[in-house]
Amino acid sequence: MAKIVAGIGSSHVPSIGRAYDSRIQEQAAWKPLFDGYKPVKKWLEEEVKADVAIVVYNDHGTDFFFDKYPTFAIGVADEYAIGDEGFGPRPLPAVPGHADFSWQIAKSLINDEFDMTVCQEMDVDHGLLVPLPLLWSHDPDWNIKVVPVVVNVLQHPLPSALRCFRLGQAIRRAVESFPEDLRVVIIGTGGMSHQLHGERMGHMNAKWDNDFLDKLESDPAALTRLSHKTIMEEAGAEAVELIMWLVMRGALPEQVERIHRNYYAPMTSGMGLVTFVDKAE
Ligand code: FE
Repeated sequence: MAKIVAGIGSSHVPSIGRAYDSRIQEQAAWKPLFDGYKPVKKWLEEEVKADVAIVVYNDHGTDFFFDKYPTFAIGVADEYAIGDEGFGPRPLPAVPGHADFSWQIAKSLINDEFDMTVCQEMDVDHGLLVPLPLLWSHDPDWNIKVVPVVVNVLQHPLPSALRCFRLGQAIRRAVESFPEDLRVVIIGTGGMSHQLHGERMGHMNAKWDNDFLDKLESDPAALTRLSHKTIMEEAGAEAVELIMWLVMRGALPEQVERIHRNYYAPMTSGMGLVTFVDKAE
C-alpha cells in the first residue's frame, strides 16, 4: 500500500528560484533561507527516502489562465515540462511524474466527491519548481517523481480553507487506495505573508506567520476556520496561498511531530519551511 510518510510546508517565492539558478545561495541576504533547506534535503535523502511527492501549488498564469482556471486540478502524466514564465524555462530537467499512481489519486478523489480537472499535459511553474530543487536533487535527473495538484488561489471565488483541508484528507485516503508500496511526501506551497500590489504592497506580518506555523502543527482546525478576508487583512492579499498548506496538513494524522522549522522575512515575503511526520511512528 502507498503511504504518506511526511508533510512539508514551503514558500514558493519566485526570487528564490532566480537566486538558486544564479548560485548565490551563500550570499548574506540568501544564506539564512537556503541553509534552512539543507537539513531537510539531507533528511529526505537519508531518512524519508520518498518515491513520490504530491506537490500542492497554484499555477501563476503559466498553463492555466484567467479565462479558465480550475478550482482543483491534478496532473496524470509521466513527465511535466518546465513552464516559461516570461523569461524562458528555468535550467531544470523536465519533472518526472507517476501516471499510474496519479490516475488512482484522481479516480479516488473524484469518487470521494472532489471533482478534479484531470490534466494529461501540464507545464509546471515556480509554484512547484521553487521548492522542488531545494528538497531533491536533479543532477542529471530528478531523484523524485511528482504528482502536481493545482489549487485556485488566484481568481475568486477560491475554495475555502476547510475545503482545502478536506481535500488533504481525501488525498490521504486516495494514496492508501494504491496497492503498490510507495513512500509518499506531500508538500503544501505558497505564502507566507505578502502583498504584491496596491497601497499595502510589501505588507508582511511575521507574528501572524509564526502563529500560523504554530497552529499548523498543533491546532489546524483553527486555521480551517479562517476566511480568505481575514488571511488577506492580516497577512496580505497573496498570503491566501497558505490555504494550500492546509491541503498538506489535512493529509497528515491529527497528531504530528515537527522535524524542521525555518522562517525568514527580509524582503517582501515571509518565507517559511516546516516538516512533519506522524507522531505515532
Ligand atoms: Fe505564488
